[in-house]
Amino acid sequence: MKVKILKGTNQIGGCITEIFSNSGTKIIIDFGEDLEETKTEIHIDGLTEGISKYSGVFITHSHGDHIGLVGQINKDIPLFIEKESKKIYNISCDFIKDSIPITRDTTYFTFGEKIEIGDLTVTPYLIDHSSYNSCMFLIEGDGKRIVHTGDYRNHGRKGKNFESTLKKIGKIDLLITEGTTFGRNNQKYKTEDDLLEEANLIFEQYHQVLLLQSSTNIDRLVTFYKASNHTKKYFVEDLFTATITSNLKDTIPSPETHFNVSVWIMNKYYKKSKEFQEKYIVPMEQYKRNKPFHHDFCMMIKQSMLKDIKEKLYEKGLLNNACVIYSMWDGYLEDEKMKDFIEELKNMNIKFIKLHTSGHADINAMKKVEEVLSPNKVILIHTEHKEKANEVFKSAVEISDNEEIEV
Ligand SMILES: [Zn+2]
Ligand SMILES: [Zn+2]
Repeated sequence: MKVKILKGTNQIGGCITEIFSNSGTKIIIDFGEDLEETKTEIHIDGLTEGISKYSGVFITHSHGDHIGLVGQINKDIPLFIEKESKKIYNISCDFIKDSIPITRDTTYFTFGEKIEIGDLTVTPYLIDHSSYNSCMFLIEGDGKRIVHTGDYRNHGRKGKNFESTLKKIGKIDLLITEGTTFGRNNQKYKTEDDLLEEANLIFEQYHQVLLLQSSTNIDRLVTFYKASNHTKKYFVEDLFTATITSNLKDTIPSPETHFNVSVWIMNKYYKKSKEFQEKYIVPMEQYKRNKPFHHDFCMMIKQSMLKDIKEKLYEKGLLNNACVIYSMWDGYLEDEKMKDFIEELKNMNIKFIKLHTSGHADINAMKKVEEVLSPNKVILIHTEHKEKANEVFKSAVEISDNEEIEV
């Protein structure tokens, strides 16, 4: 087998990996947007234009930087994706401006089940990440074995299966791993359970907790739902989040399945198309409960909810002992709109608190992958610091985009 990183040896997000067998079966892993660019144009002969030369495209998870460009792939090339990831992605597209849902045919895969494609075999495995049902792939062919990790970590709720999954895979020839956290804080990261302990203490201090977190980070949502229960608060999800949780399994806190979860529908959504209203507002209208606001509550918020927070909560005296927990990557705080939003909240006497742990692997997790899989070569992608790879990996090989590597 041979591997070419079409994009990603020198950037976080937008990574595209090509793997091909000696007899010419070609597959692609991940096809996402560059971060901060919503409309990356990409032209690859045989993939996005011309006669198709690829046998399949495999998607690791629903984050836009891994899936966002799939609409550009030739329709006769099979697209392999996990079912819930596609659902989450398509709902996100309906709520986020300028993104296009997947309407083409797709093939759903099941964790642990092999997919034969030409003379390659691809097996997806569930992995811990800040996106629900993320996976990594084992690719086998020509007597060799490659693991592509996608984005991962081992300090979230799925982290407990991390080592046993790697052991199940066993010895490999090449590891393609994410290196997002190179150049960032490289200490051991807090686990979701550590966060829960800290969240419990914060929730005990405040009557109203506003939450700024990604709607698709279900691990985090569960952490805050647990803290909310611990302090007997009602949990309020915005329409986008509530739509996602209601579409996942029943154990995920959603207004449909959990009596103490309700939905907040922003005024602006009532101005959306009839089609949007029928698809998203009508099914949720019954869960718009007033009860939470006569008690202590925890509410998921978005920047676009400022007017609602001001007029419907603050001016009505419903925020008398309130904090906002910021639970996302620090980098987003540099954004001017985010800065203004936080400032407005502070002006309403809402205490600003940061509480977060990364969705990406820390050094310990990366070392563990190399230790268990024992690859002959390691390639770093999804990083801005590939030159630091040999500080962590014994078998790191530094390559550039479009360079061919023989496995
Ligand atoms: Zn990513
Ligand atoms: Zn991701």
